[in-house]
This record gives sequence, structure tokens and C-alpha cells, in this order.
Amino acid sequence: MIEVNGLSKRYGDVFAVNDLTFTVRPGTVTGFLGPNGAGKSTTMRMILGLNRPTSGTATVDGRPFVRRRAGLHHVGALLDAGDVHPGHSAAAHLTALARTNGIGRRRVREVLEEVGLASAARRRVGGFSLGMRQRLGIATALLGNPPVLMFDEPVNGLDPEGVRWVRRLFRNLAAEGRTVLVSSHLMSEMENTAERLVVIGRGELIAEESVAAFAARG
Ligand code: ADP
Ligand code: ADP
Repeated sequence: MIEVNGLSKRYGDVFAVNDLTFTVRPGTVTGFLGPNGAGKSTTMRMILGLNRPTSGTATVDGRPFVRRRAGLHHVGALLDAGDVHPGHSAAAHLTALARTNGIGRRRVREVLEEVGLASAARRRVGGFSLGMRQRLGIATALLGNPPVLMFDEPVNGLDPEGVRWVRRLFRNLAAEGRTVLVSSHLMSEMENTAERLVVIGRGELIAEESVAAFAARG
């Protein structure tokens, strides 16, 4: 479970995130909806402990998430599909992450297979399409088999078949009892992906309810 309580992040005079409170429960896919610049990535980075809040708290399963201790085994995230050394292969990238997190090589092969990159595993990531980089980011999130997963705009760059695949993947992860938060700036995307919604605008909470209830508001 992810609990965000009175969370704020200020950059200069601007609040990227402003007194945000919401909960992401295990077992359902929760969508994180808001226009570009609404504060979704900043919120996810604070949950991951990559950004320090100006005020408020974000906890994962009751505690602030500490990467060094639990790392990829506790929370997996797709944050920025461009965040991989372009000269490395997909396999090398995942193997390095696996090594520092005490994860075996077999798991690297498994996730490459799972995201459909097995045949591209030895190619330089610099030559990957955006969709392939998204798949690699998703592989990174899955690598440690974590109970909590966050995906920031995962469908960007995926073809229609890839979009159907990630939706199925998220539903399966949730059905296994995991906590799954997926961001998007498109309501149409959320309607086909999530059951619950956390909606934000200008860093502030607009709604926290079922997708059906939010859609019915028009
Ligand atoms: P979203 O993910 O919803 O598109 P972001 O969290 O990326 O939104 O950004 C929220 C706001 O915070 C935007 O106005 C953005 O320009 C600003 N912002 C994000 N990161 C920084 C930063 N490092 N320095 C200054 N402003 C930032
Ligand atoms: P650094 O040494 O640069 O602080 P790490 O080596 O711990 O970071 O992480 C390597 C990469 O993995 C970084 O790009 C970081 O954004 C990403 N990362 C860190 N934690 C997670 C996580 N829980 N899930 C997915 N990616 C993560």
C-alpha cells in the first residue's frame, strides 16, 4: 500500500505538488490522472525517495521507502524510459541492476522474455525505439518481483498491441495482490487500464474515486 499524506514539493515559488493526500491499495490498478505538468512524476519520485518532499510524507507499506535497503525487491518503477546508458545492451543494463540488488541472472532472462525483448537483449539501448525503451523500463520495474509497482506514462511509444499487453500485465499484477499505480494524462487511457483513480491538477487532488464514478461526472 502507498500512503501519501499532505505531500508538497516546491520549486522556487511554484508548488509542483500541493498538500496531496491519497492512498493506493493492493489488488486493483489505480490510475494517476492529470494533465502534463500536474505533478504526477514529482509525486512518484517522492514516493520512491528520489525527491525530498518540502512537507508531508509518502510511505510504502507503512514506512518511507528506502531504496538502499529494500530496493527493487520492494518497489519497482518505470519512471523515465530514457534513463538508460545508450551504449549498454538491455541485458547488460538489467544484469547490472540485478547484481547490485542480489537478483539472479535467470530472473534477467525471465523479465526480458516477459516484456518481449528476448531477441533484442544484446542490442544497444541507444538504437531502441521509444516502445522498446518503455518495455525495458517495465522489465526494470518487474526485475525484483516487488509487491509495489509504479509506472509513469507507460503506454507512450507503444504500438496498439503493446498497449493491450501492458494493460493485461497491470491487471495481472493487481490480481496477484500487488499495489499498482499507473500515470497518464489521458482519461481514455485510464478507462481501459484502471479501476480506481487519483486525479490531480496543478499539484492538487481533484478526485479519488472509481473510474466509473469519475467518468459519470462528465
Ligand atoms: P507531470 O508528471 O504530471 O507531467 P511533473 O511532476 O513532471 O508533472 O511536473 C510538475 C511541475 O513541477 C511542472 O510545472 C514542472 O515544470 C515542475 N518541475 C518538475 N521538476 C522540476 C524541477 N526539477 N525544477 C523545477 N520545476 C520542476
Ligand atoms: P544512483 O546510484 O544513480 O542513485 P541506483 O544505481 O540506485 O541510482 O539506480 C539506478 C537507476 O535505477 C536510476 O536510474 C534510478 O532512477 C533507477 N531506480 C532506482 N530505484 C528504482 C526502483 N525502485 N525501480 C525502478 N528504478 C529505480
